[in-house]
Amino acid sequence: MSKDYYNILGVEKRASAEEIKAAFRKKAHQHHPDKGGNEEKFKEINEAYQVLGNTDKRQQYDQFGSGFQNGQAGGGFGGQGFGGFGGGANINMDDLGDLFGGFGDMFGFGGSSTQRGRERGHDLEMSLAIDFLDAINGTEREISFSHFKSCHYCQGSGHAPGAKIDTCSACGGRGHINRVQRTILGAIQTQSLCSSCQGEGKKASLECSHCHGQGRSKQTEKIKIKIPAGISEGASIRLASYGDVGVKKMPAGDLFLKIHINKHPQFRREGDDIYSQTDISIVEASLGATIAIDTAHGPVKLKVPEGTQPQTLFRLKEKGAPRLHGRGLGDHFVRLQVKIPKNLNKQQRQLLESLKF
Ligand SMILES: [Zn+2]
Ligand SMILES: [Zn+2]
Repeated sequence: MSKDYYNILGVEKRASAEEIKAAFRKKAHQHHPDKGGNEEKFKEINEAYQVLGNTDKRQQYDQFGSGFQNGQAGGGFGGQGFGGFGGGANINMDDLGDLFGGFGDMFGFGGSSTQRGRERGHDLEMSLAIDFLDAINGTEREISFSHFKSCHYCQGSGHAPGAKIDTCSACGGRGHINRVQRTILGAIQTQSLCSSCQGEGKKASLECSHCHGQGRSKQTEKIKIKIPAGISEGASIRLASYGDVGVKKMPAGDLFLKIHINKHPQFRREGDDIYSQTDISIVEASLGATIAIDTAHGPVKLKVPEGTQPQTLFRLKEKGAPRLHGRGLGDHFVRLQVKIPKNLNKQQRQLLESLKF
């Protein structure tokens, strides 16, 4: 929890030193435990005034905001570890200036040296090739993969059946080890996961022999998945919690299934549109015709008008891929290749000759 000292004293951020002092006196009076006030509240007011009532400390507090209190901003202080300011379990108020200096530096490094706590399991990735038409129409597939799952024998606890469970002696049940370093910049506290109990705070007299106390083991799994119609090349399907389960019942990561689409002999896809080409005769191009065009949704009749030029592109509306994000379908574009006849017989030759302009 972050503390807003200004809020605690009920003053604005730009309040003058006098205003802060006046507000502190009023609040302290109001909440004084000797006068039946709330002791916690009184302590909090005191703590706020210790900082805001001092020009230097107030300036540093303003600079780091209330984030410096909870240790979240630095990414490494782990909330529980730090005694907090003012009330400071083992931090002398006089050290505060130095401590702030220490924090300033720590912010710069983003708490890289510390570990916050037990982690969820890893995300996994695998790829799956599907056919062109399956990508257009959607399909169902069974995939088989191996990942860490909760250990059957200990139900993920990592403890041998019937083992005696005790508080971890290495960390005193906290699951993490705190180390306070006194540096010229002040006290810097780092927190690391207890390696003895892996953050659990408890330890069994005997570990599960199947998972060596990890609470998880590699297992092969088969699942059925639905691949949505219109999926595109390289798209990833997220299968929540099908990644590795974490150590000792920590949540599982996700499995990302990367889709590859096999080439089609006839069709090519661009976004939601499909392209193909088809041959027509010189007669059909010249006189016009109705021809059948193969699309991903079956054959469609196309009316070719007379005098159609080679390479003309025709659009078959909504015969493309379903739009994953939105409604309807893309289009199918077909390019007409006009076949020039070869090996004409004498009569055919004469007919063509007559077309010479
Ligand atoms: Zn086990
Ligand atoms: Zn421990």
